[in-house]
Amino acid sequence: MTNKTAVLGFPRIGEKRELKSVLENYWKGSIPLNELESVASELRLKHWTLQRNAGIDKVAVNDFSFYDNTLDLMVALGAQPERFRDITDATQRYFTMARGDETHTAMEMTKWFNTNYHYIVPELGINFAFDTVRADKILGEYREAKANGFKGAIHLIGPITFLGLSKCSDDVALALFDRLLGQYSKLLDEIIALDDNIEIVMHEPFLSTGADAGQLSLLKIAYKRLGTLSQNLSVATYFEHSTEATAVLVHTSIKGLSLDFVHGVKNSESLELLGKSDKHVTVGIIDGRNVWKNNLQLSLKTLEHIETYIPKERLSIGTSCSLLHVPYTLKYEENLDANVKELLAFAEEKLDELSLLAKAFFSHEKITFPSHEKAVADEAVQNRLRTLRPNDFKRSHPFAVRQMSARDYFDLPLLPTTTIGSFPQTAEVRKVRQEFKKGLISKETYNETMKNMIASCVAFQESIDLDVLVHGEFERNDMVEYFGEQLSGFAFSQNGWVQSYGSRCVKPPLLYGDVSRPHPMTLEWSLYAQSLTTRPMKGMLTGPVTILNWSFVRDDQPRALTAIQIALAIRDEVDDLQRGGIAMIQVDEAAFKEGYPLRRENRSAYEKWALESFLLSTAVADKETQIHTHMCYSEFTDIIKTIEEMDADVISIETSRSGNRLLRIFKESGYTQEVGPGVYDIHSPRIPSVEEMKSQIYALLEVLPASQLWINPDCGLKTRGWSETEEALRNMVEATKAVRETL
Ligand code: GLN
Ligand code: ZN
Repeated sequence: MTNKTAVLGFPRIGEKRELKSVLENYWKGSIPLNELESVASELRLKHWTLQRNAGIDKVAVNDFSFYDNTLDLMVALGAQPERFRDITDATQRYFTMARGDETHTAMEMTKWFNTNYHYIVPELGINFAFDTVRADKILGEYREAKANGFKGAIHLIGPITFLGLSKCSDDVALALFDRLLGQYSKLLDEIIALDDNIEIVMHEPFLSTGADAGQLSLLKIAYKRLGTLSQNLSVATYFEHSTEATAVLVHTSIKGLSLDFVHGVKNSESLELLGKSDKHVTVGIIDGRNVWKNNLQLSLKTLEHIETYIPKERLSIGTSCSLLHVPYTLKYEENLDANVKELLAFAEEKLDELSLLAKAFFSHEKITFPSHEKAVADEAVQNRLRTLRPNDFKRSHPFAVRQMSARDYFDLPLLPTTTIGSFPQTAEVRKVRQEFKKGLISKETYNETMKNMIASCVAFQESIDLDVLVHGEFERNDMVEYFGEQLSGFAFSQNGWVQSYGSRCVKPPLLYGDVSRPHPMTLEWSLYAQSLTTRPMKGMLTGPVTILNWSFVRDDQPRALTAIQIALAIRDEVDDLQRGGIAMIQVDEAAFKEGYPLRRENRSAYEKWALESFLLSTAVADKETQIHTHMCYSEFTDIIKTIEEMDADVISIETSRSGNRLLRIFKESGYTQEVGPGVYDIHSPRIPSVEEMKSQIYALLEVLPASQLWINPDCGLKTRGWSETEEALRNMVEATKAVRETL
C-alpha cells in the first residue's frame, strides 16, 4: 500500500511555539540566523517524523515557512515587490517585506480565505517586472527530507490562487498571466531537475470560491501547460467544493486532484466525472479546520460511496486542507475535562485517524474504530430554544421612536463623543490578571485593583469631557475568551495554539456543548463603573456571531443553532444590564463579516442566521435602552442591508483610514440609524492633531447629517499606551467641540 494517505501541510510554529521564540529573538538581534535555521530544521524533521510514524506515505515538503507561504512563493517566483529590491540581503529583505522597517512599509496582510490565518498580499501591477526564480528554499527542504529518509511531496500555491490572492484587477491578471506561468514553469523545471518523478501538489483554494468563466479559462491554460512539465503534478482545493474547476481540470494532463469532502460535500457531484477520467483523487476527509474527532465509521461509508465511482487504485485519503489551522497535540492537555478531551483530535491525533481510516479502507483488515462520543445535551437550553417566538427577534419599538426617546433621556450634544470600549492594557493590568488567575492574589485584592483602574479610567474620561463613557475592559484578556470562560459549553486548552500570522498565535476557545450562562458576566463591573458617574456608561458585550466565528465550534449541529444558543446567553446579560440601570449597551460584532461563506450562493443563509442571532441577543432591550454595535471594518458595500436589519441604534466602524469614501454607502442605501465612523486610527501610535480631526469630522459631515453622527476612535484602545491615548482623545473632544460651535 503506497501513496494512499496524504497530508496537505502540518503546523510549523512548534508544539511549544519554538519557532515563535527563535523568530522573535532573531528579530531582536539576540540570536544569529544559523540558530534560527537550525531550530527550523529540527522542527521540520520532527514534523516529518510524526507523519511517517503515523504511517503517512508522503510527508509534506515546503509547508514550512519563516513567516508565510505566500511570501515564500513571491520570493520563489521572483515576485517580490520592486520597492524592496534595494535590500540586498535575502533574509533581511524577506522579513522586511513581512514586517517593514524605517524606510519600507510592511506589505499588506489579510485573512487566508475564511480562516484566521493571515497571508501577505502580493503586490502586482500591470508593468510588474519579475525577478529571477529562486528554488533554493524548496529544493533545500526536499533534499533535507530525502537525506533523512523521508519521501515527500512538494506543496506550492498555484497560479490561479496566487493571482486571486493578489487582489489585482482582471486586466492586471490577464496582462501578467503569461509571464507568471513562465516563472512557474522555470520553478517547476528546477524542481524536476532534482528528480523527474517528484510529486508536486499545487494548492488552489481560490477555485473553491466559485471561479467565473474567465478564471476557468486561465485555469485550463495554466494546467495544460504546467501539467505537461511534470508527470506527477496534482491540484488541491479546499474550504469548499470546486466542482466548476474539477470539470476543467479533468481535461488537463495533471495527475490528480485533492478535494475537500468535509467543507465541500458538493464535490460529490463531480464523482461521476472523476470516475470516467484517468485522474487520481485524494479524498480530504480528516478535517483540517476543526478540532473534533473524526467520525471514522461515517468517513468509511463516504469512502465506500466514492469507491462506487472511482476504483480504489485511483484513490487516496487525506486531510481536508493543511493542518496548519488546528493545534498540535493533546499530549500536554492536563486540565481539560476528560469528557471534553474525549471529543478532541488535534494535528497529531488527526494523523493517527488518517492512518486508521486508510487501514480500514484499503486493506481488508477488520478495524474497530474508537467510539465516537457526542456532547451531552443540556435539557434546559434545548427547552428554551423551543419556546422562542418571532417577537423575541424584534425590538419592541421602531428605531424612530427609540431615537426620540434616547434624545429625551440622554440629552447628549450633537456629535456625541465616546470610545469603543477598551483602554490601554498596560503591563500592570496584565500582571494583575495573571496573578489572580494563578491564585497568587486573592479575589478581594483583584477586585480592588480592577475597581481602582476603572475609577481612574472613568475619572480621566470625565476630565476630558467625553459624553459617553466606558469602564475600560481591564478584566478582559480577550473579547471572546472573557465570555467563553464564563459560559457553559466552552472549554479552554492550555496549549492549543494556532498560527495567526508571522510569530503570532491564537488559542481559540473550544465550543463543545450547549451554551448557557450560569451567572451574569459583566454586570458587576458595569454597575460599579456607572456608580462613579452621572454620564451614560456603556455596557460592553461581545456578540454571538463573533464569539462563534472566533471559536472552534462543535460540528454535530448546525452553526446557526449554536449561534442562537450563544445569543440567548448574551440576551440575558443585556437584560440584566438594563435592569441594573445601564441604558446603553454595546454588543460588539468584530467578526461578523469574517463569517461570510466563501461562495456567494451560501451568503444569504449565513446572513439570515447571523442576523437572527444578533437580533435575539439585543431585541430584549427596552425602548429606553440604546443598543450600540461595533465592527472592525470599513467596507460595508456588500452587506449594508444586513447591517441595517441588525437594527442597532448606533454602529461604530473603522473608516478612519478611508476618509469618508466608504461612509457613503450608509447614505446611498438610506441607512437611518446613527453611525460612529471612527475619526482616528488606533492601530498606529501617531497622534492626530485637533486640526486634523476637525477636518476629518467635517469630511464626515459632508456625507451624513450631524444628527446621525457619533465621534469616536476607530477601534478599542487596548493596544495603545496611556500617554498617546490621553492626548489623542483630548484632541478628539476638542475638535468635536470646535466643530459643534460652527453647526
Ligand atoms: N470593545 C472591544 C474593545 O474596545 C472591541 C474590540 C474590537 O473591535 N476588536 O477592545
Ligand atoms: Zn474594532
